[in-house]
Amino acid sequence: MFSLPVLTFHALAATSHVVAWPEAAFDAMVLRLARRGRTPQGLDAIEACQAGRSVAKGGYLVTFDDGYESVVAAHASCRRVGGRIVLFLATSLPESNPIFPGETECPVQAAVTWSELRELVKDGAEVASHGHRHVDLRKLSDFEIEHELINAKAALRDYLGVAPRAFAYPFGAVNARVRGIVGAHHALAFGTRLGAVTAESDALDMPRLEAHYFRHLSTRGDLDGIAVQAYIGVRRVLRAVRGSFHG
Ligand SMILES: [Zn+2]
Repeated sequence: MFSLPVLTFHALAATSHVVAWPEAAFDAMVLRLARRGRTPQGLDAIEACQAGRSVAKGGYLVTFDDGYESVVAAHASCRRVGGRIVLFLATSLPESNPIFPGETECPVQAAVTWSELRELVKDGAEVASHGHRHVDLRKLSDFEIEHELINAKAALRDYLGVAPRAFAYPFGAVNARVRGIVGAHHALAFGTRLGAVTAESDALDMPRLEAHYFRHLSTRGDLDGIAVQAYIGVRRVLRAVRGSFHG
């Protein structure tokens, strides 16, 4: 069965912050994996995988959440090897500086701007939805959840001319009610289940792998078995620290 690891990043920054990778380490990872025949794919690879069709050999996805300005550098790294990034953008964030004012748990960095985003899209980056205000949807009423989804879609359409195929739950937070409403707007949604995407994955709770746990990829190792490593190795850690992530 075909499977695709989907890596989750947030920011590239020269800090030891839990959700930031140094830019040079990210670039080294992309280059190393490219030399091993692996290129970052877009969401069509996920759809092919779901349909049980063959996917690009050695494919994987590089996804960035939220909309830190360092997605511009991440995009350049992936383009250099003929690949692309998928950005899950919270559409209220572009132009803010810093991206999350007053949030000490997040890397302090400006958000990407709409004009930078337009350039990225023109150059092959995929932008999908991470909601509008980056809030835990479980805490909202049905009506408010609808608003989050509709506002995000409208912003992506108006600013970028993009109709987002996929959604990523802010903080990975999802329950049956949230899943149901999101499913009325998006065919694909990503949570934080550990594993690689296969034809059997739940389309509205797709697995992803938090890249924080795979920093070794910039200097050694490969993606083979990475989902299993994640599952058995970091599951407990992830659970314990999830509350401290600005997912
Ligand atoms: Zn997020």
